[in-house]
Amino acid sequence: MSDYILVLDEGTTSTRAMLFASDGVLAASAQEELTQHYPQSGWVEHDAGEIWEKTLACANEVIPKAGGAACIAAIGITNQRETVVAWDKATGEPLTRAIVWQDRRTERFCSELRDAGHEADVQRRTGLLLDPYFSGTKMRWMLDNVPEVRAAADKGTLAFGTVESWLMFKLTGGAHVSDASNACRTLLLELDGDQFDQGLCDLFGVPCAALPRVIDMSGELCETEMGLFGRTIPITGLVGDQQAATIGQECLAPGETKATYGTGAFVLTNQGSTIPRSENRLLGTVLFQVDGNRTYAIEGSVFVAGSLVQWLRDSLGVVDAASQTEELARSIPDSGGVTIVPALAGLGAPHWRAEARGVITGLSFASGKAELARAALEAMAHQTYDLAQAFSADGAAWGTLRIDGGMAANDWMAQDLADMLGVSVERPSFVETTALGAAMLAAAGAGLYPDLASAARSMRGTLARFEPDMPDEVRQDRLRRWKRALAAA
Ligand code: ADP
Repeated sequence: MSDYILVLDEGTTSTRAMLFASDGVLAASAQEELTQHYPQSGWVEHDAGEIWEKTLACANEVIPKAGGAACIAAIGITNQRETVVAWDKATGEPLTRAIVWQDRRTERFCSELRDAGHEADVQRRTGLLLDPYFSGTKMRWMLDNVPEVRAAADKGTLAFGTVESWLMFKLTGGAHVSDASNACRTLLLELDGDQFDQGLCDLFGVPCAALPRVIDMSGELCETEMGLFGRTIPITGLVGDQQAATIGQECLAPGETKATYGTGAFVLTNQGSTIPRSENRLLGTVLFQVDGNRTYAIEGSVFVAGSLVQWLRDSLGVVDAASQTEELARSIPDSGGVTIVPALAGLGAPHWRAEARGVITGLSFASGKAELARAALEAMAHQTYDLAQAFSADGAAWGTLRIDGGMAANDWMAQDLADMLGVSVERPSFVETTALGAAMLAAAGAGLYPDLASAARSMRGTLARFEPDMPDEVRQDRLRRWKRALAAA
């Protein structure tokens, strides 16, 4: 029997291998932490060699639990997006440390491009903004600052790729490919472009020859090298983490939306085959590509979600554990007028105010731990409400909101989201939606299901639902308080 799916989930802080049965049930997993390198303020790096070694170690730990490589039908890969690896195609070795998505070192280059008037055109073509977050300027930085990278480019042996591309190279023994959901985060691919765009490569100063071939996200994509696992295993799913979670939440039809509440919050709404054109500073992105056909999404992220709760716990000592915010919020009828704007790291979508800072308004002597905890949780619905307005203005109004991430375990917050947004909120019992989405793509790609929709339907599992139940005057009062506090941030 070879019907297990092996998912390699290469996150920012850890790498994991997870074994799924074909019905989506998790059978085994292994995990290793990744070393974070912070060489200067605002810089974040990973060792690509470590990423590969730990990925392989995790895979080798779970494969025997399936009964050996012969019992693995297919591999699916999902990864932290935008992080750039540079390696030498001839030696297969990294040329420098990977620059991680969080890294801000290319801020100046981005503002030069903005000042030169390139942003509107870049946004129209790629769906992205000129921000250090995306891969293109990180590649250019390596070329300008790492002599080994420049030398390999001159010799014609330089390979650039995001993390899935690096793993594909190592797993296959030399394929240089990237899937459309990762490739569209580089600033070098047009949303409807089949391959990387020469004009965009010229603008960012990245040689097209160093870039991977852009491929589908599901299907017979590649095979692992014979020597790695004792037999070849087909790699049939390849997807960036946020798109994976969207697929894992079965958001396969236009309007279907997922929100992940982890450290920050990431919201994606399926846009079908329409290329997203945001007027409200949201991002346009490829959700999936199968048989050369693309489905798109609109994406918005807020920087501070669960990290606000972490701050209440670690810096203020308001709670001992994040989950205590729930009983505190329930212990009072309202926040007593306390409102928190969690702009501790600036404001993301739809405001994009990097210089904004957090504020707490409405404090009185009656304000205590419960009021602060409740205001922190209320802030999640407030931030999500602003996103919902922007999505709606871009023609991507939400139906049901499907939530996941560590913070989604909080029932009070889930109910408050439903109340404030006025939509049903759904939460799956299996919350590892990123890995599950990669497993769905891989299962469909391996032919275990006739298509992605059947794979998603069969593998998703059970759901909890939260229905809106809040008087409108309460909602309006909350929104008024939020808007006033936001102006102060
Ligand atoms: P990430 O994947 O970004 O590391 P997770 O999805 O693991 O994050 O979510 C962890 C975050 O969620 C932490 O910041 C934590 O403060 C918050 N969190 C976890 N459980 C709860 C809870 N029950 N209520 C509120 N916040 C929570």
